[in-house]
Amino acid sequence: MGAVLKFFGYNLGIIGNGHDMTNNLRSLPSVDKVIGSDRLAQWRYVLPHSLLVDVTREVLEQERLSILNGRPCRPLADIAESVHMSIDRLVRPSLKPVINATGVILHTNLGRAPLSEEALDAMVRRAGGYCNLEFDLNTGVRGARDVHVEELLCKLTGAEAALVVNNNASAVLLALTALAKKKEVIVSRGQAVEIGGGFRIPDVMRQSGAKLVEVGTTNCTYIHDYEQAISPKTAALLRVHSSNFRIQGFSHSVTLQELVELGRKYDIPVFDDLGSGCILDVTAFGLFPEPMVQESVSLGVSLAFFSGDKLLGGPQSGIIVGKRAFVDKLRKHPLARALRIDKVRLAGLAVTLGHYLKGEALEKIPVWRMIAMPLSEIEKRAEGWVQSLGGLARVIEGESVVGGGSLPGAVLPTRTVAIGSKTKSSRNSEVASKMAKLLREYEPAIVGRLENDCLLLDPRTVLPEHDEIVVKALVDTVSRLKL
Ligand SMILES: *Cc1c(COP(=O)(O)O)cnc(C)c1O
Repeated sequence: MGAVLKFFGYNLGIIGNGHDMTNNLRSLPSVDKVIGSDRLAQWRYVLPHSLLVDVTREVLEQERLSILNGRPCRPLADIAESVHMSIDRLVRPSLKPVINATGVILHTNLGRAPLSEEALDAMVRRAGGYCNLEFDLNTGVRGARDVHVEELLCKLTGAEAALVVNNNASAVLLALTALAKKKEVIVSRGQAVEIGGGFRIPDVMRQSGAKLVEVGTTNCTYIHDYEQAISPKTAALLRVHSSNFRIQGFSHSVTLQELVELGRKYDIPVFDDLGSGCILDVTAFGLFPEPMVQESVSLGVSLAFFSGDKLLGGPQSGIIVGKRAFVDKLRKHPLARALRIDKVRLAGLAVTLGHYLKGEALEKIPVWRMIAMPLSEIEKRAEGWVQSLGGLARVIEGESVVGGGSLPGAVLPTRTVAIGSKTKSSRNSEVASKMAKLLREYEPAIVGRLENDCLLLDPRTVLPEHDEIVVKALVDTVSRLKL
């Protein structure tokens, strides 16, 4: 009763109901009674009793607090329903499929690159059984996991050696730790940046034990700025691709070629954090040029790093290519073990790289299918979606973006379905936000983007094989829309 008295102390408004409250508290069912109710029968035989007791106690505690706030005790059936919902939420996986209609191809919050059918197939199969991950089937002795992708990466990029780790942040951390700890790394001030999601070059540098030496100014860095900063403690010159922003107007930056020449002159390695790591030329699709891995390698960088799940279109991974002597040092470093990639993603990465080697990347890799999708096809699909929306939407011109820290500012012309655009303007945003919510709650969830009081759905980032699902979702959702 202590809680009740304390409660009386500062909420005088319900003193008059004190007697009811005490009665209400008395009517709280026991844990056993709740667990024994019909609604929880399905769980009684499958869940450990202790878990049922735990969850029931939590729900009863909530109920007790609610009574102390002056509300009546809910019937047993309602309390059991709450317990059922809590258990259901607990056992149902919270990672759910989402249809990405945002028009952002590499959406980090939505899991970046979707994978090709063949990559998925390899991943499912390797996950479900044993494989020769670190086992040489010729000799019967222990092997290295890198062999499954190293040759592919070398052939594709022209590099002498390659290594794959957990993600690109790991790749940069590993290289700086193994090769620049307690030494200095020179970076242009305009490149000592935050990529997003907590990846900041100065922080990674600090973590590795390397000292960041920033040169130049935010907008201008010249080759002599680097040269003046070189000291006996310099371990590397680092270029970072400013993947998510672009400096416009009065600016100057040093080319990779100049940097490599400077490195050669002083015998200092050059590292290149490419971010997205493009292997195909994006200018063919009207996009701004993105630095390509092959270029960095042929210019002679010691190491280049890039993500596996950005423009490469594979599973999450960090790829390191470059000179053998440097790659081997990373391979042997203890941190490489801590940052290693698992067999499942390795299998998906090998298949993805194979698509490039076989010249079928544009047809097979979803990211590239989306980039290469003809505008006429997008328009036709958008019109199909509009028809299922019963006069709430129309097709308008818009822009898709590559995203994921690649091609800053790069946009592709698209056609979007604008929901809310045909209603009276005062209701546009109401229609748009209600539809957005209903579509997020749909299974599978469909996520678009809200812009100018409309909900925009971009077919470019939805694979055509998912159109049927989208159309059904739109029909179902419109029927549930209450304004
Ligand atoms: C995206 C990015 C990273 C981080 O890569 P992850 O694979 O997300 O760890 C690092 N550097 C640059 C330049 C990037 O664009």
